[in-house]
Amino acid sequence: MPFDRVMTAAVDPLTLAHHGRHTRVLAAEDNPVFQSMLRSMLTKWGYDPIIARDGAEAWRVLAAEDAPRLAILDWMMPGLDGVEICRRVRAAGREPYIYILLLTARTESQDLVEGMEAGADDYLTKPFVAHELRVRLRAGQRILDLQSELVAAREALRVQATHDNLTGIANRGAILDSLRTELSRASRDRRPVAVLMADVDRFKQINDTRGHQAGDEVLREVAHRMKSAMRNYDAVGRYGGEEFLVALPGCDGDGALAQAERICEAIGGEPFRAAGSVFGVTCSMGVSWRDPASPEDADALIREADLALYNAKALGRNRVESYAPELAEA
Ligand code: GH3
Ligand code: MG
Ligand code: MG
Ligand code: MG
Repeated sequence: MPFDRVMTAAVDPLTLAHHGRHTRVLAAEDNPVFQSMLRSMLTKWGYDPIIARDGAEAWRVLAAEDAPRLAILDWMMPGLDGVEICRRVRAAGREPYIYILLLTARTESQDLVEGMEAGADDYLTKPFVAHELRVRLRAGQRILDLQSELVAAREALRVQATHDNLTGIANRGAILDSLRTELSRASRDRRPVAVLMADVDRFKQINDTRGHQAGDEVLREVAHRMKSAMRNYDAVGRYGGEEFLVALPGCDGDGALAQAERICEAIGGEPFRAAGSVFGVTCSMGVSWRDPASPEDADALIREADLALYNAKALGRNRVESYAPELAEA
């Protein structure tokens, strides 16, 4: 067969080759004749059918974690009917969306309104022509594809809005949110929270002598080393240019100092490689803390950590300093 013929044969608009797997479809139908009809049609069209024999079984399938995203529900079934299942699926409001096609023997328009209001996406009146069901399912699949794209786009936007695109860690807004969240939790649990402000030493010099790209590389590596040296319930974010903010839930002053020393060592203890050379990078850190902490402390904690950081710079850099009230007076 010539190549173009093979291609044409493969492009049947109703054929489903979804992500290389057959799309699972729930078909809920109490009539055994319809059950086997649906099973063989769906299989023939390339779907992976899951047959439910009554409403309760159908609801179990749709309430499961990995529920199929396409559902054909018979309206009239013993126990739970199709409309009630629609209501329950929509009330659960879960994602990803489940597309529901209602099968009805009834034709009264009032009933159909009820079915659509319960959350059905489409309906088909029994008896129906096989091809019609096939086309309706294809339309449903298209809606689901569009919805998946929207969810992916929304997720990408969310990541973009909360992460720093140079280093991949939380951005300023997100780390401040995390700090406030930790402070609220600490306030409920009557626990301490510490804040750590880190600033790369003489970073301008790195930019000036090795180039801005090398500077960017250093920032990425600093973020990576900070993250690797931290406990996974601590939060780190890029607060500004070469400044990083860390929230340490459950840490008192001594705990925070130890944690800061560990991070300092992770950065200063191993040489950096960028722009074809190997060189050392250090940073200075300021620590502040509250016990117990409360949500109102956020700004003050940051201010105090900043003062402590300023002191660490003044005392020669590559060191950790804690906040002390004298610093505010100075
Ligand atoms: P100190 O030890 O006192 O902190 O000195 P410093 O040179 O690190 O501090 P300074 O505030 O003078 O310089 C920070 C520099 O960081 C200035 C700015 O151009 C640079 N910078 C800020 N953001 C970025 C960035 O995203 N990439 C690069 N490559 N440089 C940045
Ligand atoms: Mg029925
Ligand atoms: Mg600096
Ligand atoms: Mg700075």
